[in-house]
Amino acid sequence: MIELYDKDKIVNILKGYSIRVTPNRLKVAEIILNSEVHPSIDEIHTILTKSGKNISFTSVYNIIKMFQSAGIVKEIKSKDRSRYDANLKPHSHFICKNCGRVFDVDMEITNSNFPTSINGMSVDSLEVTYYGLCSECNNDNKDN
Ligand SMILES: [Zn+2]
Ligand SMILES: [Zn+2]
Repeated sequence: MIELYDKDKIVNILKGYSIRVTPNRLKVAEIILNSEVHPSIDEIHTILTKSGKNISFTSVYNIIKMFQSAGIVKEIKSKDRSRYDANLKPHSHFICKNCGRVFDVDMEITNSNFPTSINGMSVDSLEVTYYGLCSECNNDNKDN
């Protein structure tokens, strides 16, 4: 389940990150914030052009990179490409080694799950990535 962000919420989020709101930035933010599938830049570009929006690949790329440096989206390397995640709540990922899809895994992060200090460095968060075969790829394997 994903909390859907409407236009007003998205405008507020962008403003909260000191990003000036433009129609293109709003469109890209709408897709990435409301996506659960961790789309790549070309997937975001395809969604936009299919919906009739005239936007170049470079514009989408620049907007995503701007969101990334602002901290709205996180880059996830999966197989041969980068995917982007705007799920701002702490969570883990499962990356399928076969199809490259990235799934969110709910994880309750509490102090008891991880050390608060390692060799004098203080730890305040933890990122876990699981790798394996997703259920679809697992089924394909069994059929062969
Ligand atoms: Zn898979
Ligand atoms: Zn995610």
